[in-house]
Amino acid sequence: MHWGEKMNSLSLKEFQDQVSDLLLRHRSVLDVLSKFTQSNAAVQRSVAKAITECGCIQVHAGKQHYSTEMTINDAKKLLETHMAGELCENCVEVVASEIGKNLFYTASLCNLLGVDLQKVLEDESKRCTTLGFFNMS
Ligand SMILES: [Zn+2]
Repeated sequence: MHWGEKMNSLSLKEFQDQVSDLLLRHRSVLDVLSKFTQSNAAVQRSVAKAITECGCIQVHAGKQHYSTEMTINDAKKLLETHMAGELCENCVEVVASEIGKNLFYTASLCNLLGVDLQKVLEDESKRCTTLGFFNMS
């Protein structure tokens, strides 16, 4: 399947069950924790490689001129992503694949600890709605 093609909608619950069936090799919570951290670093590394090896995105960073009086529209205009360009087709595939592995180990950790990932998503979404833009940090 090619990146961007629509797959039949899969719930986080189904994904978490699928991961549970696959998780035979890394059953120890210590293995899962280290794989989880490693996969997080791999996401970061894939973005760094897009910058330093491919060059499809660049980083131009400076101080953010943030103020509490800003409206959401002001903030969208004034706050910088510190990034120029966009991921090329190759890099977006690599980054997405690393995010996928990170999600796999997130689901694994949830399985081991009895955390319902679908509920985590729903609770976090509710929290985003309640807190609003400026408190998301
Ligand atoms: Zn690229």
